[in-house]
Amino acid sequence: MAQQEEVFKKLVSHCKEYGFVFPSSEIYDGLGAVYDYGQMGVELKNNIKKYWWDSMVLLNENVVGIDSAIFMHPTIWKASGHVDAFNDPLIDNKDSKKRYRADVLIEDLMAKIDDKIEKEVEKAAKKFGESFDADLFRQTNPRVQENVAKRTEIHTRFAKALNDGNLEELRQIIIDYDVVCPISGTKNWTEVRQFNLMFATEMGSTADGAMKVYLRPETAQGIFVNFLNVQKTGRMKIPFGIAQIGKAFRNEIVARQFIFRMREFEQMEMQFFVRPGEELQWFEFWKDRRLKWHKAIGLGDKKYRYHDHDKLAHYANAATDIEFEMPFGFKEVEGIHSRTDFDLGSHEKFSGKKIQYFDPELNKSYVPYVVETSIGVDRMFLSVLAASYDEERLEGGDTRVVLKLPAPLAPVKLAVMPLVKKDGLPEKARQIIDDLKFDFNCQYDEKDSIGKRYRRQDAIGTPFCVTVDHQTLEDNCVTIRHRDSMQQERVAISALRGIISEQVSMKNFFKKITE
Ligand code: ATP
Repeated sequence: MAQQEEVFKKLVSHCKEYGFVFPSSEIYDGLGAVYDYGQMGVELKNNIKKYWWDSMVLLNENVVGIDSAIFMHPTIWKASGHVDAFNDPLIDNKDSKKRYRADVLIEDLMAKIDDKIEKEVEKAAKKFGESFDADLFRQTNPRVQENVAKRTEIHTRFAKALNDGNLEELRQIIIDYDVVCPISGTKNWTEVRQFNLMFATEMGSTADGAMKVYLRPETAQGIFVNFLNVQKTGRMKIPFGIAQIGKAFRNEIVARQFIFRMREFEQMEMQFFVRPGEELQWFEFWKDRRLKWHKAIGLGDKKYRYHDHDKLAHYANAATDIEFEMPFGFKEVEGIHSRTDFDLGSHEKFSGKKIQYFDPELNKSYVPYVVETSIGVDRMFLSVLAASYDEERLEGGDTRVVLKLPAPLAPVKLAVMPLVKKDGLPEKARQIIDDLKFDFNCQYDEKDSIGKRYRRQDAIGTPFCVTVDHQTLEDNCVTIRHRDSMQQERVAISALRGIISEQVSMKNFFKKITE
Protein backbone atom coordinates (compact mmCIF):
# COMPACT_ATOMS: atom_id res chain seq x y z
CA MET A 1 0.00 0.00 0.00
CA ALA A 2 2.78 2.41 0.95
CA GLN A 3 4.36 1.84 -2.43
CA GLN A 4 1.02 2.46 -4.13
CA GLU A 5 0.63 5.72 -2.24
CA GLU A 6 4.07 6.72 -3.44
CA VAL A 7 3.02 6.01 -7.03
CA PHE A 8 -0.14 8.00 -6.50
CA LYS A 9 1.85 11.00 -5.28
CA LYS A 10 4.03 10.77 -8.33
CA LEU A 11 0.99 10.57 -10.56
CA VAL A 12 -0.43 13.74 -9.03
CA SER A 13 2.79 15.65 -9.66
CA HIS A 14 3.08 14.17 -13.14
CA CYS A 15 -0.41 15.48 -13.89
CA LYS A 16 0.70 18.95 -12.92
CA GLU A 17 4.10 18.87 -14.59
CA TYR A 18 2.73 17.81 -17.96
CA GLY A 19 -0.40 19.96 -18.09
CA PHE A 20 -3.08 17.41 -17.23
CA VAL A 21 -4.51 18.71 -13.95
CA PHE A 22 -3.75 21.85 -11.92
CA PRO A 23 -5.09 22.79 -8.49
CA SER A 24 -7.74 25.48 -8.98
CA SER A 25 -6.74 29.07 -8.10
CA GLU A 26 -3.22 27.89 -7.44
CA ILE A 27 -1.66 31.35 -7.17
CA TYR A 28 -4.06 31.96 -4.28
CA ASP A 29 -3.01 28.67 -2.64
CA GLY A 30 -5.79 26.64 -4.21
CA LEU A 31 -9.42 25.92 -3.38
CA GLY A 32 -10.30 22.68 -1.59
CA ALA A 33 -11.19 19.81 -3.91
CA VAL A 34 -11.51 21.99 -7.01
CA TYR A 35 -9.22 21.37 -9.97
CA ASP A 36 -8.55 22.73 -13.44
CA TYR A 37 -7.71 20.63 -16.46
CA GLY A 38 -4.69 21.78 -18.45
CA GLN A 39 -3.84 21.58 -22.13
CA MET A 40 -3.27 17.81 -22.08
CA GLY A 41 -5.95 17.03 -19.51
CA VAL A 42 -8.71 18.68 -21.50
CA GLU A 43 -7.86 16.59 -24.56
CA LEU A 44 -7.92 13.35 -22.59
CA LYS A 45 -11.14 14.40 -20.88
CA ASN A 46 -12.79 15.30 -24.19
CA ASN A 47 -11.79 11.93 -25.63
CA ILE A 48 -13.31 10.12 -22.64
CA LYS A 49 -16.50 12.12 -23.06
CA LYS A 50 -16.61 11.38 -26.78
CA TYR A 51 -16.11 7.68 -26.11
CA TRP A 52 -19.02 7.68 -23.68
CA TRP A 53 -21.27 9.91 -25.81
CA ASP A 54 -20.78 7.95 -29.01
CA SER A 55 -21.19 4.64 -27.21
CA MET A 56 -24.58 5.86 -25.99
CA VAL A 57 -25.92 7.98 -28.82
CA LEU A 58 -24.32 6.44 -31.93
CA LEU A 59 -24.30 2.84 -30.82
CA ASN A 60 -27.92 2.81 -29.65
CA GLU A 61 -30.63 3.95 -32.01
CA ASN A 62 -32.96 4.49 -29.06
CA VAL A 63 -30.66 6.73 -27.00
CA VAL A 64 -30.58 10.49 -27.64
CA GLY A 65 -28.72 13.27 -25.86
CA ILE A 66 -29.59 16.61 -24.26
CA ASP A 67 -27.76 19.44 -22.52
CA SER A 68 -29.88 20.91 -19.75
CA ALA A 69 -29.10 23.98 -17.62
CA ILE A 70 -27.25 23.76 -14.32
CA PHE A 71 -29.77 26.04 -12.63
CA MET A 72 -33.19 24.51 -12.27
CA HIS A 73 -36.40 25.36 -10.47
CA PRO A 74 -35.77 24.78 -6.74
CA THR A 75 -38.86 22.59 -6.37
CA ILE A 76 -37.09 20.00 -8.53
CA TRP A 77 -34.74 19.32 -5.63
CA LYS A 78 -37.64 19.02 -3.25
CA ALA A 79 -39.29 16.49 -5.57
CA SER A 80 -36.10 14.52 -6.08
CA GLY A 81 -35.57 14.23 -2.34
CA HIS A 82 -32.25 16.11 -2.36
CA VAL A 83 -33.40 18.98 -0.10
CA ASP A 84 -34.48 16.57 2.62
CA ALA A 85 -32.18 13.63 2.20
CA PHE A 86 -29.03 14.35 0.21
CA ASN A 87 -26.92 14.05 3.32
CA ASP A 88 -23.71 12.43 4.38
CA PRO A 89 -23.04 11.38 7.99
CA LEU A 90 -20.10 13.41 9.25
CA ILE A 91 -17.94 12.92 12.31
CA ASP A 92 -15.09 15.04 13.66
CA ASN A 93 -12.02 14.05 15.55
CA LYS A 94 -11.78 16.43 18.49
CA ASP A 95 -7.98 16.30 18.66
CA SER A 96 -7.01 16.76 15.02
CA LYS A 97 -10.17 18.80 14.23
CA LYS A 98 -10.36 16.77 11.02
CA ARG A 99 -13.72 15.89 9.56
CA TYR A 100 -14.61 12.47 8.15
CA ARG A 101 -17.54 10.65 6.65
CA ALA A 102 -18.59 8.08 9.22
CA ASP A 103 -19.67 5.62 6.50
CA VAL A 104 -16.31 5.95 4.73
CA LEU A 105 -14.39 5.28 7.96
CA ILE A 106 -16.35 2.05 8.37
CA GLU A 107 -15.93 1.06 4.72
CA ASP A 108 -12.17 1.62 5.05
CA LEU A 109 -12.16 -0.53 8.16
CA MET A 110 -13.82 -3.38 6.25
CA ALA A 111 -11.41 -2.93 3.35
CA LYS A 112 -8.49 -3.30 5.78
CA ILE A 113 -9.90 -6.58 7.07
CA ASP A 114 -10.37 -7.78 3.48
CA ASP A 115 -6.75 -6.93 2.80
CA LYS A 116 -5.64 -8.93 5.84
CA ILE A 117 -7.60 -11.95 4.63
CA GLU A 118 -6.16 -11.73 1.13
CA LYS A 119 -2.63 -11.39 2.49
CA GLU A 120 -3.09 -14.56 4.59
CA VAL A 121 -4.30 -16.41 1.50
CA GLU A 122 -1.45 -15.11 -0.68
CA LYS A 123 1.11 -16.07 1.97
CA ALA A 124 -0.26 -19.58 2.21
CA ALA A 125 -0.44 -19.91 -1.57
CA LYS A 126 3.26 -19.11 -1.77
CA LYS A 127 4.09 -21.54 1.01
CA PHE A 128 2.12 -24.51 -0.29
CA GLY A 129 2.71 -24.03 -4.01
CA GLU A 130 0.65 -25.89 -6.57
CA SER A 131 -1.20 -28.15 -4.18
CA PHE A 132 -2.79 -25.11 -2.48
CA ASP A 133 -6.57 -25.09 -2.28
CA ALA A 134 -7.57 -21.48 -1.61
CA ASP A 135 -11.24 -22.23 -0.90
CA LEU A 136 -10.41 -24.90 1.63
CA PHE A 137 -7.88 -22.63 3.27
CA ARG A 138 -10.46 -19.84 3.60
CA GLN A 139 -12.89 -22.23 5.24
CA THR A 140 -10.46 -23.77 7.70
CA ASN A 141 -7.71 -21.35 8.64
CA PRO A 142 -8.53 -19.93 12.10
CA ARG A 143 -7.03 -16.47 11.46
CA VAL A 144 -8.95 -16.10 8.20
CA GLN A 145 -12.12 -17.39 9.85
CA GLU A 146 -11.77 -14.90 12.68
CA ASN A 147 -11.38 -12.00 10.25
CA VAL A 148 -14.27 -13.17 8.07
CA ALA A 149 -16.50 -13.35 11.15
CA LYS A 150 -15.41 -9.87 12.25
CA ARG A 151 -16.02 -8.46 8.79
CA THR A 152 -19.47 -10.03 8.56
CA GLU A 153 -20.41 -8.65 11.95
CA ILE A 154 -19.33 -5.12 11.02
CA HIS A 155 -21.04 -5.39 7.67
CA THR A 156 -24.34 -6.52 9.18
CA ARG A 157 -24.34 -3.73 11.76
CA PHE A 158 -23.28 -1.17 9.17
CA ALA A 159 -25.96 -2.11 6.62
CA LYS A 160 -28.64 -2.04 9.29
CA ALA A 161 -27.48 1.32 10.66
CA LEU A 162 -27.54 2.84 7.17
CA ASN A 163 -30.95 1.45 6.39
CA ASP A 164 -32.36 2.67 9.71
CA GLY A 165 -30.59 6.04 9.42
CA ASN A 166 -29.17 5.25 12.87
CA LEU A 167 -26.34 7.75 13.37
CA GLU A 168 -25.59 6.67 16.94
CA GLU A 169 -24.99 3.13 15.80
CA LEU A 170 -22.59 4.35 13.09
CA ARG A 171 -20.60 6.08 15.82
CA GLN A 172 -20.78 3.01 18.02
CA ILE A 173 -19.28 0.83 15.28
CA ILE A 174 -16.40 3.28 14.97
CA ILE A 175 -15.85 3.16 18.73
CA ASP A 176 -16.30 -0.61 19.08
CA TYR A 177 -13.75 -1.43 16.40
CA ASP A 178 -11.19 1.09 17.61
CA VAL A 179 -11.14 3.24 14.49
CA VAL A 180 -8.62 6.01 15.06
CA CYS A 181 -8.11 9.31 13.27
CA PRO A 182 -5.21 8.87 10.84
CA ILE A 183 -3.90 12.33 11.78
CA SER A 184 -4.11 12.40 15.59
CA GLY A 185 -4.20 8.64 16.14
CA THR A 186 -6.94 9.09 18.77
CA LYS A 187 -10.50 7.84 19.23
CA ASN A 188 -11.79 11.14 20.51
CA TRP A 189 -14.82 11.36 18.19
CA THR A 190 -17.80 13.74 18.16
CA GLU A 191 -21.37 12.64 17.53
CA VAL A 192 -22.33 11.76 13.96
CA ARG A 193 -24.39 14.47 12.22
CA GLN A 194 -26.12 14.71 8.87
CA PHE A 195 -24.76 17.26 6.42
CA ASN A 196 -26.56 18.35 3.23
CA LEU A 197 -24.24 18.36 0.24
CA MET A 198 -26.01 20.85 -2.00
CA PHE A 199 -24.58 24.30 -2.74
CA ALA A 200 -27.21 27.03 -2.62
CA THR A 201 -27.14 30.49 -4.12
CA GLU A 202 -29.59 33.26 -4.93
CA MET A 203 -31.10 34.08 -8.27
CA GLY A 204 -32.47 37.54 -9.13
CA SER A 205 -31.91 40.83 -7.30
CA THR A 206 -33.24 41.17 -3.78
CA ALA A 207 -35.51 44.03 -4.86
CA ASP A 208 -37.38 41.59 -7.12
CA GLY A 209 -37.47 38.97 -4.41
CA ALA A 210 -34.48 36.67 -4.78
CA MET A 211 -35.07 32.97 -5.13
CA LYS A 212 -32.91 30.35 -3.45
CA VAL A 213 -31.56 28.04 -6.15
CA TYR A 214 -29.13 25.14 -6.01
CA LEU A 215 -26.17 24.15 -8.11
CA ARG A 216 -27.28 20.75 -9.36
CA PRO A 217 -25.75 17.84 -7.43
CA GLU A 218 -26.45 15.46 -10.34
CA THR A 219 -27.35 15.88 -14.00
CA ALA A 220 -30.13 13.27 -13.91
CA GLN A 221 -32.93 15.63 -12.84
CA GLY A 222 -32.42 17.72 -15.99
CA ILE A 223 -33.25 14.55 -17.92
CA PHE A 224 -36.34 13.66 -15.90
CA VAL A 225 -37.90 17.10 -16.24
CA ASN A 226 -37.32 16.96 -20.00
CA PHE A 227 -38.72 13.46 -20.39
CA LEU A 228 -41.91 14.59 -22.13
CA ASN A 229 -40.16 17.20 -24.28
CA VAL A 230 -37.77 14.64 -25.70
CA GLN A 231 -40.28 11.80 -25.94
CA LYS A 232 -42.78 13.94 -27.84
CA THR A 233 -40.45 15.95 -30.10
CA GLY A 234 -38.24 12.94 -30.84
CA ARG A 235 -41.26 10.60 -31.23
CA MET A 236 -39.41 8.20 -28.93
CA LYS A 237 -40.91 4.82 -28.14
CA ILE A 238 -40.28 3.00 -24.90
CA PRO A 239 -37.73 1.58 -24.20
CA PHE A 240 -35.50 4.59 -24.90
CA GLY A 241 -32.77 6.54 -23.19
CA ILE A 242 -31.68 10.14 -22.70
CA ALA A 243 -27.98 10.84 -22.19
CA GLN A 244 -26.32 13.92 -20.79
CA ILE A 245 -22.83 15.11 -19.89
CA GLY A 246 -22.45 18.04 -17.54
CA LYS A 247 -21.13 19.61 -14.39
CA ALA A 248 -22.43 18.67 -10.95
CA PHE A 249 -21.61 20.20 -7.58
CA ARG A 250 -21.44 18.67 -4.11
CA ASN A 251 -20.13 20.22 -0.95
CA GLU A 252 -18.20 17.06 -0.06
CA ILE A 253 -17.23 16.71 3.60
CA VAL A 254 -14.00 14.91 2.96
CA ALA A 255 -12.26 16.17 -0.06
CA ARG A 256 -9.04 14.29 -0.47
CA GLN A 257 -7.70 11.87 -3.05
CA PHE A 258 -7.15 14.40 -5.81
CA ILE A 259 -9.82 14.35 -8.52
CA PHE A 260 -11.53 11.28 -7.06
CA ARG A 261 -13.74 13.40 -4.82
CA MET A 262 -14.27 16.94 -6.00
CA ARG A 263 -16.70 19.69 -5.11
CA GLU A 264 -17.20 20.57 -8.78
CA PHE A 265 -17.08 17.62 -11.13
CA GLU A 266 -18.58 16.26 -14.30
CA GLN A 267 -21.03 13.42 -14.80
CA MET A 268 -22.08 11.34 -17.79
CA GLU A 269 -25.55 10.03 -17.09
CA MET A 270 -28.10 8.11 -19.08
CA GLN A 271 -31.65 7.47 -17.97
CA PHE A 272 -33.29 4.57 -19.73
CA PHE A 273 -37.11 4.58 -19.66
CA VAL A 274 -38.82 1.20 -19.67
CA ARG A 275 -42.14 -0.50 -19.07
CA PRO A 276 -42.99 -1.15 -15.41
CA GLY A 277 -42.01 -4.72 -14.64
CA GLU A 278 -39.22 -4.83 -17.23
CA GLU A 279 -36.78 -2.72 -15.25
CA LEU A 280 -34.75 -5.52 -13.69
CA GLN A 281 -34.13 -7.11 -17.07
CA TRP A 282 -32.86 -3.76 -18.39
CA PHE A 283 -30.86 -3.26 -15.23
CA GLU A 284 -28.97 -6.49 -16.02
CA PHE A 285 -28.55 -5.40 -19.62
CA TRP A 286 -26.99 -2.06 -18.72
CA LYS A 287 -24.88 -3.57 -15.96
CA ASP A 288 -23.30 -5.87 -18.50
CA ARG A 289 -23.04 -3.21 -21.21
CA ARG A 290 -21.34 -0.71 -18.94
CA LEU A 291 -18.76 -3.17 -17.70
CA LYS A 292 -17.96 -4.04 -21.31
CA TRP A 293 -17.56 -0.33 -22.04
CA HIS A 294 -14.95 -0.10 -19.28
CA LYS A 295 -13.13 -3.26 -20.22
CA ALA A 296 -13.00 -2.41 -23.94
CA ILE A 297 -10.28 0.19 -23.43
CA GLY A 298 -7.90 -2.49 -22.23
CA LEU A 299 -6.68 -1.35 -18.82
CA GLY A 300 -7.01 -4.94 -17.56
CA ASP A 301 -10.17 -6.89 -16.81
CA LYS A 302 -9.03 -7.70 -13.27
CA LYS A 303 -9.13 -4.05 -12.32
CA TYR A 304 -12.94 -4.00 -12.31
CA ARG A 305 -15.54 -5.47 -10.05
CA TYR A 306 -19.21 -4.98 -9.26
CA HIS A 307 -20.21 -3.88 -5.81
CA ASP A 308 -23.87 -4.28 -4.93
CA HIS A 309 -25.25 -1.62 -2.61
CA ASP A 310 -25.73 -2.39 1.08
CA LYS A 311 -28.30 0.30 1.32
CA LEU A 312 -30.84 0.78 -1.40
CA ALA A 313 -32.33 4.23 -1.68
CA HIS A 314 -36.01 3.96 -0.76
CA TYR A 315 -37.05 4.34 -4.40
CA ALA A 316 -34.53 1.91 -5.92
CA ASN A 317 -35.10 -1.80 -6.40
CA ALA A 318 -31.57 -2.66 -7.55
CA ALA A 319 -28.25 -0.84 -7.50
CA THR A 320 -24.68 -1.73 -8.19
CA ASP A 321 -21.40 0.12 -8.61
CA ILE A 322 -18.63 -0.61 -11.03
CA GLU A 323 -15.46 -0.28 -9.02
CA PHE A 324 -11.98 0.24 -10.37
CA GLU A 325 -8.72 -0.63 -8.65
CA MET A 326 -7.28 2.81 -7.93
CA PRO A 327 -3.88 3.20 -6.26
CA PHE A 328 -5.86 3.55 -3.00
CA GLY A 329 -7.98 0.42 -3.46
CA PHE A 330 -11.14 -0.57 -5.34
CA LYS A 331 -13.39 2.50 -5.62
CA GLU A 332 -16.66 3.41 -7.29
CA VAL A 333 -16.37 4.88 -10.76
CA GLU A 334 -19.90 4.30 -11.96
CA GLY A 335 -23.30 3.59 -10.45
CA ILE A 336 -26.09 1.64 -12.15
CA HIS A 337 -29.46 2.05 -10.50
CA SER A 338 -32.95 0.80 -11.07
CA ARG A 339 -34.87 3.87 -9.87
CA THR A 340 -38.41 2.58 -10.43
CA ASP A 341 -40.95 5.34 -11.25
CA PHE A 342 -39.85 7.41 -8.28
CA ASP A 343 -38.44 10.44 -10.10
CA LEU A 344 -41.06 10.86 -12.81
CA GLY A 345 -43.83 10.04 -10.32
CA SER A 346 -42.52 12.58 -7.87
CA HIS A 347 -42.24 15.31 -10.53
CA GLU A 348 -45.84 14.54 -11.50
CA LYS A 349 -46.88 15.17 -7.93
CA PHE A 350 -44.83 18.30 -7.32
CA SER A 351 -45.47 19.95 -10.71
CA GLY A 352 -49.10 18.94 -11.02
CA LYS A 353 -48.42 17.96 -14.67
CA LYS A 354 -49.11 14.53 -16.05
CA ILE A 355 -45.82 12.82 -16.94
CA GLN A 356 -46.91 9.61 -18.60
CA TYR A 357 -46.31 7.61 -21.72
CA PHE A 358 -49.03 6.12 -23.86
CA ASP A 359 -47.88 2.66 -24.88
CA PRO A 360 -49.60 1.81 -28.18
CA GLU A 361 -48.79 -1.89 -27.84
CA LEU A 362 -50.36 -2.16 -24.41
CA ASN A 363 -52.96 0.46 -25.24
CA LYS A 364 -52.50 2.21 -21.89
CA SER A 365 -50.66 5.08 -20.23
CA TYR A 366 -48.17 4.72 -17.40
CA VAL A 367 -45.29 6.43 -15.62
CA PRO A 368 -42.21 4.73 -17.07
CA TYR A 369 -39.65 3.00 -14.87
CA VAL A 370 -36.04 4.10 -15.10
CA VAL A 371 -32.67 2.41 -15.20
CA GLU A 372 -29.82 4.86 -14.76
CA THR A 373 -26.14 4.62 -15.59
CA SER A 374 -24.10 7.35 -13.93
CA ILE A 375 -20.36 7.76 -14.28
CA GLY A 376 -18.02 10.55 -13.18
CA VAL A 377 -15.79 11.89 -15.95
CA ASP A 378 -13.10 12.81 -13.46
CA ARG A 379 -13.04 9.39 -11.79
CA MET A 380 -12.84 7.78 -15.20
CA PHE A 381 -9.99 10.15 -16.07
CA LEU A 382 -8.20 9.17 -12.86
CA SER A 383 -8.64 5.46 -13.49
CA VAL A 384 -7.26 5.77 -17.02
CA LEU A 385 -4.26 7.74 -15.83
CA ALA A 386 -3.56 5.53 -12.82
CA ALA A 387 -3.58 2.38 -14.91
CA SER A 388 -1.48 3.94 -17.66
CA TYR A 389 1.26 5.49 -15.57
CA ASP A 390 4.42 3.44 -15.68
CA GLU A 391 8.02 3.90 -14.66
CA GLU A 392 9.84 1.53 -16.92
CA ARG A 393 13.37 0.29 -16.37
CA LEU A 394 15.27 0.29 -19.64
CA GLU A 395 18.33 -1.62 -20.73
CA GLY A 396 21.39 0.25 -19.55
CA GLY A 397 19.78 1.24 -16.23
CA ASP A 398 17.75 4.24 -17.44
CA THR A 399 14.11 4.66 -16.55
CA ARG A 400 11.40 6.25 -18.61
CA VAL A 401 8.09 7.56 -17.37
CA VAL A 402 5.46 6.59 -19.86
CA LEU A 403 1.70 6.96 -19.96
CA LYS A 404 0.48 3.85 -21.71
CA LEU A 405 -2.84 5.45 -22.51
CA PRO A 406 -5.28 3.59 -24.74
CA ALA A 407 -4.37 5.16 -28.11
CA PRO A 408 -7.88 6.44 -28.94
CA LEU A 409 -7.90 8.40 -25.66
CA ALA A 410 -4.38 9.86 -25.91
CA PRO A 411 -4.35 13.69 -26.01
CA VAL A 412 -1.79 13.82 -28.83
CA LYS A 413 -1.81 11.05 -31.41
CA LEU A 414 1.50 11.75 -33.11
CA ALA A 415 4.53 13.96 -32.79
CA VAL A 416 6.47 14.88 -35.91
CA MET A 417 10.14 15.65 -35.41
CA PRO A 418 12.77 16.82 -37.86
CA LEU A 419 16.08 15.19 -36.99
CA VAL A 420 17.81 18.58 -37.26
CA LYS A 421 16.52 22.14 -37.44
CA LYS A 422 17.90 22.79 -40.93
CA ASP A 423 18.36 21.41 -44.45
CA GLY A 424 14.66 21.57 -45.21
CA LEU A 425 13.72 18.93 -42.60
CA PRO A 426 11.48 21.27 -40.53
CA GLU A 427 9.57 22.20 -43.68
CA LYS A 428 9.08 18.54 -44.56
CA ALA A 429 7.87 17.80 -41.03
CA ARG A 430 5.41 20.70 -41.23
CA GLN A 431 4.08 19.35 -44.52
CA ILE A 432 3.32 16.02 -42.85
CA ILE A 433 1.49 17.79 -40.03
CA ASP A 434 -0.47 19.92 -42.49
CA ASP A 435 -1.59 16.76 -44.19
CA LEU A 436 -2.65 14.96 -41.00
CA LYS A 437 -3.75 17.68 -38.59
CA PHE A 438 -7.45 17.47 -39.42
CA ASP A 439 -7.46 13.74 -38.75
CA PHE A 440 -5.32 13.58 -35.63
CA ASN A 441 -4.10 15.85 -32.88
CA CYS A 442 -0.42 16.37 -33.92
CA GLN A 443 2.51 18.04 -32.23
CA TYR A 444 5.60 19.48 -33.87
CA ASP A 445 8.83 19.25 -31.86
CA GLU A 446 12.31 20.23 -33.01
CA LYS A 447 13.99 21.06 -29.69
CA ASP A 448 16.65 18.87 -27.98
CA SER A 449 17.92 15.43 -28.97
CA ILE A 450 15.54 12.89 -30.46
CA GLY A 451 15.86 10.81 -27.26
CA LYS A 452 14.67 13.70 -25.10
CA ARG A 453 11.83 14.42 -27.49
CA TYR A 454 10.72 10.79 -27.29
CA ARG A 455 10.70 10.99 -23.49
CA ARG A 456 8.54 14.12 -23.55
CA GLN A 457 6.02 12.37 -25.78
CA ASP A 458 6.11 9.20 -23.62
CA ALA A 459 5.29 11.34 -20.61
CA ILE A 460 2.07 12.61 -22.22
CA GLY A 461 1.20 9.24 -23.73
CA THR A 462 1.62 10.00 -27.46
CA PRO A 463 1.32 6.64 -29.23
CA PHE A 464 3.41 7.58 -32.30
CA CYS A 465 6.52 9.63 -32.99
CA VAL A 466 7.53 10.27 -36.57
CA THR A 467 11.07 11.35 -37.38
CA VAL A 468 12.01 13.14 -40.59
CA ASP A 469 15.67 12.76 -41.66
CA HIS A 470 17.77 13.59 -44.70
CA GLN A 471 16.81 10.34 -46.39
CA THR A 472 13.15 11.42 -46.16
CA LEU A 473 13.81 14.20 -48.66
CA GLU A 474 14.87 11.59 -51.17
CA ASP A 475 12.53 8.65 -50.60
CA ASN A 476 9.51 10.19 -48.81
CA CYS A 477 9.87 7.67 -45.99
CA VAL A 478 10.02 8.39 -42.26
CA THR A 479 10.80 6.49 -39.08
CA ILE A 480 7.74 5.77 -36.97
CA ARG A 481 8.30 4.86 -33.34
CA HIS A 482 5.70 3.02 -31.28
CA ARG A 483 5.32 4.26 -27.70
CA ASP A 484 4.90 1.00 -25.78
CA SER A 485 7.33 -1.28 -27.60
CA MET A 486 9.66 1.60 -28.54
CA GLN A 487 10.10 -0.20 -31.82
CA GLN A 488 10.88 1.80 -34.89
CA GLU A 489 10.11 1.10 -38.50
CA ARG A 490 10.63 2.84 -41.78
CA VAL A 491 7.41 3.61 -43.61
CA ALA A 492 6.23 5.74 -46.54
CA ILE A 493 4.72 9.09 -45.55
CA SER A 494 1.67 8.13 -47.57
CA ALA A 495 1.13 5.11 -45.28
CA LEU A 496 1.06 7.15 -42.05
CA ARG A 497 -2.64 7.99 -42.09
CA GLY A 498 -3.59 4.31 -42.41
CA ILE A 499 -1.20 3.07 -39.71
CA ILE A 500 -2.26 5.68 -37.20
CA SER A 501 -6.00 5.49 -37.93
CA GLU A 502 -6.04 1.80 -37.29
CA GLN A 503 -4.69 2.27 -33.77
CA VAL A 504 -6.42 5.44 -32.66
CA SER A 505 -9.91 4.80 -33.92
CA MET A 506 -12.60 4.41 -31.27
CA LYS A 507 -14.19 1.82 -33.51
CA ASN A 508 -11.81 -0.66 -31.89
CA PHE A 509 -13.56 -0.04 -28.57
CA PHE A 510 -17.08 -0.09 -29.98
CA LYS A 511 -16.58 -3.46 -31.60
CA LYS A 512 -15.62 -4.93 -28.24
CA ILE A 513 -18.69 -3.48 -26.53
CA THR A 514 -21.11 -5.12 -28.91
CA GLU A 515 -19.22 -8.43 -29.38
P1 ATP B 1 -19.58 8.30 -3.38
O1 ATP B 1 -20.27 7.20 -2.62
O2 ATP B 1 -18.18 7.98 -3.79
O3 ATP B 1 -19.74 9.65 -2.75
P2 ATP B 1 -21.97 8.45 -4.90
O4 ATP B 1 -22.50 7.06 -4.74
O5 ATP B 1 -22.54 9.55 -4.09
O6 ATP B 1 -20.37 8.45 -4.78
P3 ATP B 1 -23.41 8.91 -7.30
O7 ATP B 1 -24.35 9.86 -6.67
O8 ATP B 1 -23.90 7.53 -7.64
O9 ATP B 1 -22.08 8.83 -6.43
O10 ATP B 1 -22.79 9.62 -8.59
C1 ATP B 1 -22.49 8.93 -9.78
C2 ATP B 1 -21.05 9.07 -10.15
O11 ATP B 1 -20.62 10.43 -10.10
C3 ATP B 1 -20.09 8.34 -9.23
O12 ATP B 1 -19.98 6.98 -9.58
C4 ATP B 1 -18.80 9.08 -9.44
O13 ATP B 1 -18.10 8.59 -10.57
C5 ATP B 1 -19.25 10.49 -9.72
N1 ATP B 1 -19.09 11.32 -8.52
C6 ATP B 1 -19.94 11.43 -7.48
N2 ATP B 1 -19.46 12.30 -6.57
C7 ATP B 1 -18.27 12.75 -7.06
C8 ATP B 1 -17.30 13.68 -6.58
N3 ATP B 1 -17.47 14.32 -5.44
N4 ATP B 1 -16.20 13.90 -7.34
C9 ATP B 1 -16.02 13.26 -8.51
N5 ATP B 1 -16.91 12.38 -9.00
C10 ATP B 1 -18.01 12.13 -8.31
